[in-house]
Amino acid sequence: MLAKQCWRLLKWPDSLAVRVLKEKYYPGVDFLESNLGKKPSYAWRSIWQAKALLQEGLIWRVGNGSRIDLWKDKWIPATPHKILDPVRIISRDAKVAEIINWEANWWDIPLIEQIFSEETVEQIWTKNGRFSVHSAYHLEVERRNRGNWSTSSVQSAIPTWRRLWNLKLPRFILIFIWRACNDILPTKINLYRRKIVIDQLCPMCNSEAESNGHVLWRCDSAKAVWGSCRGPIQKTSVEAEEFFDIFAFLCDRLEDKDLELFASVAYKVWARRNMVVFGGAVLPPSILIREATKIVEEFRKSREATSALGPRGQISHDRWLRPAVNSIKFNWDAALDDRKKIMGMGIIARDHHGDVKAAMCDVIPYIRDPSVAEAIAARRAVQFAHNMGVQSMELEGDAREIILALRSSAEVDSSVGNLVLEARRMLETFPSWRVSHVRRDGNRAAHLLAKFAISQ
Ligand SMILES: [Zn+2]
Repeated sequence: MLAKQCWRLLKWPDSLAVRVLKEKYYPGVDFLESNLGKKPSYAWRSIWQAKALLQEGLIWRVGNGSRIDLWKDKWIPATPHKILDPVRIISRDAKVAEIINWEANWWDIPLIEQIFSEETVEQIWTKNGRFSVHSAYHLEVERRNRGNWSTSSVQSAIPTWRRLWNLKLPRFILIFIWRACNDILPTKINLYRRKIVIDQLCPMCNSEAESNGHVLWRCDSAKAVWGSCRGPIQKTSVEAEEFFDIFAFLCDRLEDKDLELFASVAYKVWARRNMVVFGGAVLPPSILIREATKIVEEFRKSREATSALGPRGQISHDRWLRPAVNSIKFNWDAALDDRKKIMGMGIIARDHHGDVKAAMCDVIPYIRDPSVAEAIAARRAVQFAHNMGVQSMELEGDAREIILALRSSAEVDSSVGNLVLEARRMLETFPSWRVSHVRRDGNRAAHLLAKFAISQ
């Protein structure tokens, strides 16, 4: 609980209570740099003591990295230091977000290699089984727990993500909610921060700054929609600033079907807001809710129609077998080259005739752990299937450990945990999917592609 109070000091430095404390105990410096001082009050002593816990927990909400200082914060997991390299190319005030390639949703490798020493680059990379852009949030939670946050009232985010990715909704809605939770929607506040617009006012009400929590939940225009939803959503009030907290709160209280409606309506609220920005009329709540309900129902129907394919059974074969009719099988493999310090991956997609539909290979630098390499390649295979618009996929490889982890619903507590988790939640957005194991011989095509990748 105290850690949470500390967090408040950091997060709302302008609130009255914080200003009073600051005036008295740490004028002119940041809370994290404050000293206990002489004759501390009981309250201040308690808060100050919890600071260490907070620092250890390092509770940045990493999300998109837009608030983490590249040089001043300790953001590389498992390293106790800030980056010690000399500042070059990008400014001293740069944020972690600036070294992410947003199109690829991955680190901007060429830039990173120019900015940091080889040693730092390796730290970023070899940890990336635990710290990819998407995984950042999980990592933060893990740290929170290590910093005794589990005893505070802050909930772990993992159940929230699991809940989200298990909702029976089209992928674009899941991704929308995920983006809103990570605060990477182009709200006015976010655009203002990036100096793209000159004011932060909500385009719907023109009276408050447009944060994700505001536009999707608290704005009068949004409230009118939520108030018109039948069932528990209508009666729910949430006192939270950020959309993630609102969503997490609802996850605790709503059943799947209500949460699905919530997500779909939130998507429509945002779509309506965009229409207004581009000069469209404000659709009435009843139409929005009707459209949102339709999305949920149609998705449910289409799933029922395709689920005839059956569940993912226990499968392990010696040789390559064709996938089910209308399904595409993706075989993947990874290979390492220790001398060049690279990993190669190969992915090949075939249909039930055995015809190759697509294949790819790629190289990623600084990966040396075979399990991490296999997990990265598996995740890429799932992504590849998504990009191809495949509805029914079978994922197959020869890495038993990764396959078991992908098939299990338990948390994976290893260096590949977050990669597997990401792959699994992406898999869960396919209308139909299965994961199977094949011996090396049956995975030859993917293996050769991976070898080919590192031979170049
Ligand atoms: Zn508003």
